[in-house]
Amino acid sequence: MPSRERYDVVVVGAGAFGLASAYHLIERRPDLSVLVVDARSGPGEGSMGASAAMVRDVFSSPDNRVLARNSIAFYRHLLATHDDLRAPVPLLDLYGYLWLLPERELREYSGFLRAPESAIETEVLDLAGVRSCSGLEPNPTRWFEGDAASPPDPIAGGLFGRNCGAVAPEMLAAFYAREARRRGVEFAFDTVVQRLSFEGREEILLHEPSKMPFAFQQSMRGRLRISRVAFGDGRSVRADTVIVAGGAWSAKILDPLGYATACSPRRQILFAVSGPVIDQLLAWQPPVQPIDRPGGRTRFPFVILPSGITLKPIFPQRHLWVGFCDTVAHPIGTLEDPGRDGRLDYNMAALGDRDAYVTDVLPALSPYFPGFDTSGVRLENSWGGYYNFSPEGAPVLTEETFGVIFVGGDSGSGVMKADSLGRLVAARYEGRRDTTLFSGETYRLDRLSLAHRSVAEEKLIL
Ligand SMILES: Cc1cc2nc3c(=O)[nH]c(=O)nc-3n(C[C@H](O)[C@H](O)[C@H](O)COP(=O)(O)OP(=O)(O)OC[C@H]3O[C@@H](n4cnc5c(N)ncnc54)[C@H](O)[C@@H]3O)c2cc1C
Repeated sequence: MPSRERYDVVVVGAGAFGLASAYHLIERRPDLSVLVVDARSGPGEGSMGASAAMVRDVFSSPDNRVLARNSIAFYRHLLATHDDLRAPVPLLDLYGYLWLLPERELREYSGFLRAPESAIETEVLDLAGVRSCSGLEPNPTRWFEGDAASPPDPIAGGLFGRNCGAVAPEMLAAFYAREARRRGVEFAFDTVVQRLSFEGREEILLHEPSKMPFAFQQSMRGRLRISRVAFGDGRSVRADTVIVAGGAWSAKILDPLGYATACSPRRQILFAVSGPVIDQLLAWQPPVQPIDRPGGRTRFPFVILPSGITLKPIFPQRHLWVGFCDTVAHPIGTLEDPGRDGRLDYNMAALGDRDAYVTDVLPALSPYFPGFDTSGVRLENSWGGYYNFSPEGAPVLTEETFGVIFVGGDSGSGVMKADSLGRLVAARYEGRRDTTLFSGETYRLDRLSLAHRSVAEEKLIL
């Protein structure tokens, strides 16, 4: 229950971007009254909670590299300075990413990722190193049954990203929420933002009954500002500025204002598997040099197959999480519509279509790991969330319009860039043109805007 009737800033969404935004905003401006509203009952329970929560600085787009590299450095700094972020698991565990690639892709990726200006730490794993993973078939002989496609080119080697690994999303979310709260930010959980409204701002004339402004007011600079954030239960608060960080659901409250996000949400699923085949894979110690090597041992890295399948090791439970960036013939949009319903009935488990493991994922996985087609692998669990794709695969941070700022367009890699985006949102609120990211790099805000956008297409969306 918000304690005030009016706030300087209301942040919609306590996900990766909203939490980092609230934290950096209050760090810079302790004088502000800030309210973070989320439909879920705690921080980080939207797509952030469904995510694989991997981090990497290996991107083809220089913007994504900079945003991720600085966020990873900040998470590393938190781990080094906060004892409570070392257990039960470390906040950050950089055990590495391994792309297994056919000859042509290995050359292509090595070209742009190993260029000195990319500043990415990679090493090449030769075929003998790849073959040291027992259970992996680098040269698949069978391929999608019933499909006339020929088998893929054999894996020729691997590209290993060092500044890459896993972040603990619940620890990161709890850190940002706790520290923001300690600095005075208020949180309203179990509260749905249904509508951003101009009602109650005396200088604005409104159409009846739609309560939308007249078109001619558009030219009256500064006049058209949101005044009220209305909740699904009929309550509302007044706000000077609204930061919409509602992830995949953002458009449901921005579309009715004619406020474009240019992003397309699509459902994505993860599958947890276990069993003797998985135990054997998790025992692999690849001949690479990860940043984190507990006891001096290398561990099964985050593996990306040529078919796009990803494997994340979950060492304590002895699971692998199988993922697949799925954009084939699924409708764009979310099932849930907080703007229409005043509710956000997001259900991770219900979105995790178990059948898709057999129909959509195994055919692209088992040719490389035949053991997955046996009783040595059990499907334990599945769940889903959304990627909110931007046109190029880099985040979106709009210029302020109507007193509203949108941050989103994570394109499946928002947890790993959240800290940088939080700093950019705080700078946008302050009307600055650029800001300094954690490691000291200066970043110009309008690179991510829609009006003056200047980002390259991202080739490595996982
Ligand atoms: C299967 C899967 C795997 C992923 N893997 C990775 C990965 O390995 N690494 C990585 O960096 N990213 C990954 N992602 C992406 C990551 O989850 C997102 O980038 C990140 O969560 C985006 O943050 P966000 O704040 O924009 O959205 P969210 O985390 O979804 O947060 C938005 C919040 O807004 C709230 N909200 C929305 N609308 C309203 C409203 N009207 N009223 C009140 N509350 C509202 C929601 O409840 C939610 O808590 C993955 C995502 C999925 C689904």
